[in-house]
Amino acid sequence: MSILVVGSVALDTVETPFGKRERTLGGSATFFSFSASFFDRVNMVAVVGNDFPPEHIELLKSRGIDTRGLRVLDGKTFHWAGAYGYDMNTAVTHSTCLNVFENFKPEIPEEYRKSDCVFLANIDPELQMGVLGQIERPRLVACDTMNFWIDGKRDALLKLLGMVDVAILNEAEARQITRQPNLVRAGRMIREWGPARVVIKKGEHGALLFGDDRIFAAPAYPMEEIIDPTGAGDTFAGGFIGHLSRAGNADWNTMRQAVIYGSVMASFNVEDFSLDRMKTLTEKEIRDRYREFVPLSHFE
Ligand code: AMP
Repeated sequence: MSILVVGSVALDTVETPFGKRERTLGGSATFFSFSASFFDRVNMVAVVGNDFPPEHIELLKSRGIDTRGLRVLDGKTFHWAGAYGYDMNTAVTHSTCLNVFENFKPEIPEEYRKSDCVFLANIDPELQMGVLGQIERPRLVACDTMNFWIDGKRDALLKLLGMVDVAILNEAEARQITRQPNLVRAGRMIREWGPARVVIKKGEHGALLFGDDRIFAAPAYPMEEIIDPTGAGDTFAGGFIGHLSRAGNADWNTMRQAVIYGSVMASFNVEDFSLDRMKTLTEKEIRDRYREFVPLSHFE
C-alpha cells in the first residue's frame, strides 16, 4: 500500500515559551510524511525554493519517503512564522509568505497516481482539488486545512469537503468553518457537507472521531512537557492515515485505532522543535506508547 501527500514544505520561524527556532524545517507535508513513513510507503508532492537546504531532503529520503514529486523552483521556500503562549493549543501566525507556493500547480507523477490513500495536507483548497482531478479514485481521501484558508477560500473549501472521505481539523478550525461553537454539532455539520468520517483534534484534550451516529472520544497522552506544538496536527494525520493504509481497511474499529496512532505520533512530535524528536523515534517507542493508551481510558 502507499500514501500520496500533497502539502507544504516550509522553513518555519517558531517561538514558544521554551525557545525560538529560525527557518527550521516545517510544513504540513513534511510533518505528515515523516510520521506516516513509520507505517507505510509515502509519496510526496510539494515545492521548495532554491534556498532550501539539501540536507532536509536527505532527511526525508532517510525515512524512505519518495521525494520524486518534490519540485525545486527558482525563488524562496514557503515561510511561516508563528508563536505559542502558555496555552499551546493555538498558534498565533505572525506571517505567511507563500513564495514559490504562489504559482505552484501540483503535478502528480505518473508513478504516484495509483496511491491507495491520499492526504491533502494544509494548502490552498483549490490546489487540493486540483490533485483529485489527476489521480485514479483512491481507497481513501482525507484532507486538512487551517484558519488562513477558511478565511480566504471558504467556498473552495466547502466544495473540497464534498469530495473527501475524511476531514481532519482542530477544534478552532471546526468551530470557524461551521460557525458553530459546539463541537458535536460542528462534527455533524461537517459530515453533512460530505466526509463520512470527521476527526476533530482537541490538542492536549484528545480527539473526537465522528461516524454514522457514533462518536469515539480518545484521550491525549498526558504529557508533562510540551516544547513545540508545531506539526502536531500533521504528525497526528500521518499516524492516522499511516495506520489505515497499513491495515488496508477503514472500518470503525480500525479508525479508532488510527486515532490512537495519530495521538501517539503527535505526542512524540511536540517533545521538541521541528522534527528533532521524530528523527530519533523508534518503532518500539511507538508500539510502547500505543499500549500505554489502553489503561488510560479502559473501564468495565
Ligand atoms: P500543524 O500540524 O497544524 O501545527 O501545522 C504546522 C505547519 O503548517 C507548519 O510547519 C507550517 O509551515 C505549515 N503552515 C502554516 N501556515 C500554512 C498555510 N497557510 N498553508 C500551508 N501550510 C501552512
